[in-house]
Amino acid sequence: MGFNKEKLPIFYKTKDEIEAIRESSLLVSKTLGLVASHIRAGVTTAYLDKIAEEFIRDNKGVPAFKGYEGGPDSPPFPATLCMSLNEQVVHGFPNDRELQDGDILSVDCGVVKNGFYGDHAYTFPIGQVRADVLKLLKVTKECLYLGIEQAAVGKRIGDIGFAIQQHAEKNGFTIVRELVGHGVGKMLHEAPELPNYGKRGKGTQLQNGLVLAIEPMINFGKKDVKQLADGWTIVTADGKPSAHFEHDVAIINGKPVILSTFDYVEEALAKNKNILQPEAQ
Ligand code: MG
Ligand code: MG
Repeated sequence: MGFNKEKLPIFYKTKDEIEAIRESSLLVSKTLGLVASHIRAGVTTAYLDKIAEEFIRDNKGVPAFKGYEGGPDSPPFPATLCMSLNEQVVHGFPNDRELQDGDILSVDCGVVKNGFYGDHAYTFPIGQVRADVLKLLKVTKECLYLGIEQAAVGKRIGDIGFAIQQHAEKNGFTIVRELVGHGVGKMLHEAPELPNYGKRGKGTQLQNGLVLAIEPMINFGKKDVKQLADGWTIVTADGKPSAHFEHDVAIINGKPVILSTFDYVEEALAKNKNILQPEAQ
């Protein structure tokens, strides 16, 4: 889930707190892996949402997005997963539409367990996806890891955004401005805000104990987005596709440590003959 509120506090975590966030993050990773094993053309996003919620509760977690208050103009979020299809950027609702060959689907999941949150996301290609859209997925994932590399002591928030923006724009894509990454811990959304654009050497200094949800949201066409009348779903203004990948990252001993993992997703996709990995197409 992205973030668009201001003036929330910044907290630096202890080693034990980081381990608790890791546990929640890994439950999200496993949930995304479960989704990856079931995703294919013909399946509804409502079905994927249902199995995700059951899995989280079976593992003593609570879905963090369900009932989340979006603000004065938004109702509480209605589901466990944000399911954002094609031109939807983030915060889409699961529904009874069947996934179709050629779709891309961002699946964003949050859990809270033992009082700490995990929040991460993966964008899946369904069946045969256009090569230029697969490139959007590949570049967005690369942007995530380039941003993570910058999450180190001695760097600033702007260094993360700069790395993400440079790589996206070099490849002809654009950066969503209205939604940003965020701190994560005892709250789903903590300071600092983490724009996916920025200037080197600008913004808050990064320190040990900071835990960040880094989440590039990158558009195929123009950068502009709008919100649908449901109070949540963000779509591209030009109707072109958008991709989203997210990891939870702690700064420990000066360096970034990724608390979440795409290993479960990638193992499941390797066995899921209905989905081709971007690299394989
Ligand atoms: Mg998220
Ligand atoms: Mg998030």
